[in-house]
Amino acid sequence: MKEDPLLMIPGPTMVPSRVVRAMSAPILPHRGSAFSALFLEQIERLKKIFQTKNDIFILCGSGTAAMEAAVSNVVEPGDKVICLVNGKFSGRFYEIAGRFKATPVVIDFEWGSAVDVETVKEALEKYPDAKAVTMAFNETSTGVRNPVKEVGELVKDTDAVFIVDTISALGGDEFRTDDWHVDMCATGSQKCLALPPGLAFISVSEKAWKVIEATDSSSYYLDLRRYRDDKAHAPYTPPVTLAYGLKEALDIIDEEGLDRRIERHRRLAHIVREEAQKMGLALFPASEGICSSTVTALRVPEGIDPGKLRGVLRDEFDIVIAGGQAQLKGDIIRIGHMGVIGEKEVYATLACLSIALDRVSL
Ligand SMILES: *Cc1c(COP(=O)(O)O)cnc(C)c1O
Repeated sequence: MKEDPLLMIPGPTMVPSRVVRAMSAPILPHRGSAFSALFLEQIERLKKIFQTKNDIFILCGSGTAAMEAAVSNVVEPGDKVICLVNGKFSGRFYEIAGRFKATPVVIDFEWGSAVDVETVKEALEKYPDAKAVTMAFNETSTGVRNPVKEVGELVKDTDAVFIVDTISALGGDEFRTDDWHVDMCATGSQKCLALPPGLAFISVSEKAWKVIEATDSSSYYLDLRRYRDDKAHAPYTPPVTLAYGLKEALDIIDEEGLDRRIERHRRLAHIVREEAQKMGLALFPASEGICSSTVTALRVPEGIDPGKLRGVLRDEFDIVIAGGQAQLKGDIIRIGHMGVIGEKEVYATLACLSIALDRVSL
């Protein structure tokens, strides 16, 4: 691989040079007023992207830290957690819940299909004592977008805290934390926000706070009560450099406009789906209507090794796309089209993919 590959993977994504430059500013003391003002300002700006009035916290860690913060703050050993699983990342909530000695109840959906709302309704009736319900909005492992709004309508009438992973979608697809009744929304920096890896973000609703306050959490570093007490700079040293990058990344989002950004992602996803199918690749998700706006999962034609295909793209064209994960390893390819990339990058990837397909078919 050369020094400057085109990243067409579902994170980390391309980081604009403006953001890189912003991060080269001198380090401010994180307890000083200049840094606090910067930090608090970015939290307010993030609320617009989350579409929430709830609290938001900036955590030092990758997206999984926000997932762990959500689960670990609302469960005690033995608590029931309904985990809606239709891929690797939604399955992670199940693993986290188990690690904190909760009792996860998995509701499985076929990989490539979306979470089925009727099934969720039945599960909520069957487990009225569930303390939380978890799901992924954009299941990156399969390229499926899940019906968070519809599930939120159901969970809001229960005592359960609704926890959603939006790591590969927030800032790239429409997501309405408050309107969709999401109590805890977890996201990360290195996907649609086009920042380097290292920041995680979480929102916390009033309903979630009530549960958190009544829960004996076993988390220390991610104890959200500590973050609430220390909003202006986080209880432990935040990554100051990434906070500068965050400001610049949010400036870029403001300049484009969130709506236009979401529309761009939709357009790019559409182009990838159309062109890939013309080349003989098939959509992995069960139907076009559930396809993600930020990552497209594709089956390759019979007899073609997805690993070799990716290898040609990487070695000859310096373009990186992703393969399948877990049970889909060796079966599919995934093209990330998220963050700051545009049609230029998407068409270049598709053209090189077409050439690579010819090469590996020979
Ligand atoms: C990337 C991703 C994660 C994991 O995020 P990390 O930043 O690697 O911890 C979790 N969920 C989804 C849906 C993702 O796309």
